[in-house]
Amino acid sequence: ARAGWVDRLKLGLRKTGSSITTVFTGTRIDEALYEELEEALLMADTGVKATTVLLDDLRRRVKEARATEPAAVRELLIDAIADLLRPLQKPLVIGEHKPTVVMVAGVNGAGKTTSIGKLTRHLAAHKASVLLAAADTFRAAAREQLAVWADRNYVEIISQQGGDPAAVAFDAVNAGRARGKDVVLVDTAGRLPTQLHLMEELKKIRRTLVKADTAGTGVPHEVLLVIDGNTGQNALMQVKAFDDAIGLTGLIVTKLDGTAKGGVLAAIAQERPVPVYFIGVGEKLEDLETFDAREFAQALLG
Ligand code: GDP
Repeated sequence: ARAGWVDRLKLGLRKTGSSITTVFTGTRIDEALYEELEEALLMADTGVKATTVLLDDLRRRVKEARATEPAAVRELLIDAIADLLRPLQKPLVIGEHKPTVVMVAGVNGAGKTTSIGKLTRHLAAHKASVLLAAADTFRAAAREQLAVWADRNYVEIISQQGGDPAAVAFDAVNAGRARGKDVVLVDTAGRLPTQLHLMEELKKIRRTLVKADTAGTGVPHEVLLVIDGNTGQNALMQVKAFDDAIGLTGLIVTKLDGTAKGGVLAAIAQERPVPVYFIGVGEKLEDLETFDAREFAQALLG
C-alpha cells in the first residue's frame, strides 16, 4: 500500500495535472501560455491571490533561466509551486509533553473520524500510547464510529452520552495523565443539533483543555483541523474560520486520492499558512501520509 500512494495522489489530481500539462504542449512561451496557465490554476482551486503570486514568480524564473521551451516552463512551475507550499511542510512533533494533547476539529463529512483513526495508528506505529476522547457527546453515531476506530487500534476511549463535551475533554486530559499516555486525541463535534454555535462550543472545549493544564505545558499542544481536499475554496474559508476561533497548529487534508484538484493547498499557503501535518489518500487505516511540498507539486502537474 505504501509504494502506491503517490500514484493514488496523482490519480486523484489527474484532472488538474492534465489541464495544466496541456498548457505546455505548444511551441512557444508567450502571453497565451500564461493566460492558459492562469485559467488552469484557477480551475484547480488555487484562488486568485496564489495564482497571481505563482505566475509572477514563474515569469521571473523563466526570465532568469532564459527558458525557451514550454516544457522547461513546466519544470519551473513545479519549482514555484513547491517553494510556495514549502512553509506548509512541517512534521507533527509528539513527545515533548506527556501527554501531548491534540484537539481535532472539522465539519461533518470532512473525514475527521477516519483521520483520527489513521492518526492513532500512525502514532502507535511510532510507539506512542494513545487515549481517545469522544467530545462529540451529541451524536451517538460519532461516538460509536470513534469507538470502532479505538477498537481497531486497541486503544482506550473516554466517552459519555450527552452531557458537556468540555467535561469529557477535561476528564480525558486527567485520565491521560493518570494512565501515563503519550497522546490524548480529543475528537470534537462537526455540527450541532441545537442552535448552539459550533465555534462557541469548540472555544469552550479549548478553554477547558487550558484549564486542565495544571502543569502549564501549553495544553492543547496541537489544534488540528481536518479539511476535505475536494471542497476547494470552501476549505480555505474553513481554515480561516477555525483558525480565528480556536487557533490552529496544523491541518489534515483528506480525500486527495479522489477527485480533488489540489490547488487549494497553494491558496492556503498564500492566505493562511497553517502546516499540513498529513494528507489522506484513501479510506484505509494506513492511507495517511506526511506532506511533502515537492512531491505534491509534482503530483499536481501529473
Ligand atoms: P467525519 O464526519 O468528518 O468524521 O467524516 P468520516 O471520517 O466519517 O469520513 C467521511 C467519509 O469520507 C467516509 O466515507 C470516509 O471513508 C471517507 N474518507 C475519509 N478520509 C478519506 C480519504 O483520505 N480518502 C477517501 N477516498 N475517503 C476518505
